[in-house]
Amino acid sequence: MENYLAELNEAQRAPVLQKDGAMIVIAGAGSGKTRVLTYRIAYLMSQGVDPFNILSLTFTNKAAREMKNRIAKIVGNSEAKNLWMGTFHSIFAKILRFEADKLGYPSNFTIYDTQDSQSVIRAIIKDMRLDKDVYKYKQVYNRISSYKNSLITVKAYFQNPELKEADAMSKKPRLGDIYKEYVERCFKAGAMDFDDLLLKTNELLNRFPEVLHKYQNRFRYILVDEYQDTNHSQYLIVKALSDKFQNICVVGDDAQSIYAFRGANINNILNFQKDYPDVQMYRLEQNYRSTKNIVNAANSIIEKNKTKLEKVVWTENEDGPKIVVNRLLTDGEEGRFVASSIFENRMQNQLKNSDFAILYRTNAQSRAMEDALRKKEIPYRIYGGLSFYQRKEIKDVLSYLRLLINPKDEEALKRVINYPARGIGQTTMDKLTIAANQYGRSIFEVIENIDQLNLGINSGTRTKLKNFVNMIKSFTILAENADAFTVADTVTKKSGLVQEFKKDGTPEGVARIENIEELLNGIKDFVEEQRELADANGSLAEFLEDVALATDMDKDTSDDDRVALMTIHLAKGLEFPYVYIVGLEEDLFPSAMSMNTRSELEEERRLFYVALTRAEKQAYLTYTQSRYRWGKLVDAEPSRFIEEIDEKFMDYMIPQDDYKYKPLIDTDIFGDVDKSKLRQTKPQNGTPPPAHKPTESQLRKLRKLKPPATEPQKATNSIKLEAGNEVEHLRFGKGKVLSIDGVGQDKKAEIDFENGGIKKLLLRFAKLKLL
Ligand code: ATP
Ligand code: MG
Repeated sequence: MENYLAELNEAQRAPVLQKDGAMIVIAGAGSGKTRVLTYRIAYLMSQGVDPFNILSLTFTNKAAREMKNRIAKIVGNSEAKNLWMGTFHSIFAKILRFEADKLGYPSNFTIYDTQDSQSVIRAIIKDMRLDKDVYKYKQVYNRISSYKNSLITVKAYFQNPELKEADAMSKKPRLGDIYKEYVERCFKAGAMDFDDLLLKTNELLNRFPEVLHKYQNRFRYILVDEYQDTNHSQYLIVKALSDKFQNICVVGDDAQSIYAFRGANINNILNFQKDYPDVQMYRLEQNYRSTKNIVNAANSIIEKNKTKLEKVVWTENEDGPKIVVNRLLTDGEEGRFVASSIFENRMQNQLKNSDFAILYRTNAQSRAMEDALRKKEIPYRIYGGLSFYQRKEIKDVLSYLRLLINPKDEEALKRVINYPARGIGQTTMDKLTIAANQYGRSIFEVIENIDQLNLGINSGTRTKLKNFVNMIKSFTILAENADAFTVADTVTKKSGLVQEFKKDGTPEGVARIENIEELLNGIKDFVEEQRELADANGSLAEFLEDVALATDMDKDTSDDDRVALMTIHLAKGLEFPYVYIVGLEEDLFPSAMSMNTRSELEEERRLFYVALTRAEKQAYLTYTQSRYRWGKLVDAEPSRFIEEIDEKFMDYMIPQDDYKYKPLIDTDIFGDVDKSKLRQTKPQNGTPPPAHKPTESQLRKLRKLKPPATEPQKATNSIKLEAGNEVEHLRFGKGKVLSIDGVGQDKKAEIDFENGGIKKLLLRFAKLKLL
């Protein structure tokens, strides 16, 4: 065992070494909260605590995996595998699986993902003949989700006239009825949605004292990361489970609470002291992540919030470069600036793509970034898009698998009963659905008994239906003895899915088959991995649970060298050497929808604080002068957050007197930007030209902006270099040119530097002085 305690400062060591009792660590970004949790677990294990008795709740499953790996390294054995570690949803899905029968669910219950849930709600709105423009299914889904997370069950809803009234006021008097129907349909399908995983866990722990005691005794030590973003439902679970031993350690930062819109409750932090009277409070102050400039700039931002706990954050890291601010003409130009800047930084400082992240407020902003990165051939990965498991062909396969595990799963059945086509049409489905509702049975059961029921379905179609059911049943029988991989492999072939995609013949069809192969490989890996674990055996049901809760944040991307693109919400807890925060404009960030109240605005500001504190070495802020919003080109104003940062931490790239929509990028520094495009003021395709005169308020703001602190240095392109020349580089110091190759834009020099060793630099970027 390495001397891991030496890798902590004194303030961090204190909560790690307090073995028992309740404790809360409240500290600013980058101060080592997650590290404290990790090392605390290692310490507990070193003190003889059985990993089976430790429960650790993290924001993503990926974070849990990384912590496990670190712990395994510290404690030096494979015991770390036995830790209960993961997101609330994944941990409690496992527990519910054991206990499902108590709640009337089959243990093989399906987990409906957001798509499935929304599709159920859409069907209900249609069946109830409600106006789909008033009852927008996504809104209805969000509403139901927030009820569940506040533990407002259907019964509680109808007992509370205020809720009904509020929904009636928002022109949705039938919301309660939809909620009721939704819950019934899910139950009938043997399905829980994401929110049920918490709601039902609460129900389980409340209604069954013996179950509560079992898990209280099992989880003697509980740890929670990102505690500021737990919602009421999660709070109650943690409270119930820790009630007996009160060995609970939570870490969080009120300044990074960014999920209030989804029900996260900052009072969970504030009330912690009341809930655990003997609580020990710890504070960490030293930031290890970022430069002084970034830490201080972030402090100057969060200071503006009125609601906050007083905290100090400082760092011994170097000052670092100032935060760069740039104004661009359009989002296209913003993308090109970011891509060029990444390219330049990467070349000059010999960095990897994965050292960079681009963060934005809304997913829609990724497109312009992607276009620019692709043009520059910079590999990137977008997080928060569709997860692999939500792709069409993958969901098709998974639906078959779900169905063979749980034949009541209605969403799965509807998806595949006629895919590939089997001549089972919508009219037949409607008849089956009506019968299923009438008898209170699943569609699958109705088909099983179809010959005894008089549903007006002709015998040809009845045979097709029975064939389908028999095929699924044969898969179920196979799954009783075969492992998940064998089952999945058989299903993809026998169901006709693979043939269907092969028939397609288009590149998309080929890609689909490749994805299915990847899925099968994934299942194989899963089976092998699970065999090593004590409490799992690699069954198909376990696999399906895993994928139902997988998000693309959870992917292991450690050996994947790509620029990361994601919304700020997803970036929580992560860190990158270089961070670009784009779209810093009023109405976009802060969002137009979050400026009605001070508390909403303060949440936006915390979001900005989260964004900025992801950066280790340098942060860039960009905004545009005009942007397409809702299909219209509108004038944009710089975000108030830019102004709120103390000027002494900032470097403005925007020339003071430049209001004339000239290209604002210095093309000499940023390389191969297509100048003709930038100069062009009339966009093609009949889109209206950008406004030529900035608004008064833009002018006022722009006048305040200072010119860059240092004049951009000319790149080397203009000087003639040859082998043998002595040169000087800003960072690498003096050096000798060894060779030159390439021509024009691609001209490179190999230089042996005193400080940096031998480097190959692209001359149009490298800032070299000829000595
Ligand atoms: P956030 O609020 O963003 O979640 P955090 O408080 O959880 O941040 P960590 O992610 O644990 O902070 O730590 C930030 C960085 O500082 C990590 O790279 C971590 O490894 C490093 N770090 C933390 N403590 C120390 C230490 N004592 N010595 C060296 N590095 C440290
Ligand atoms: Mg953290």
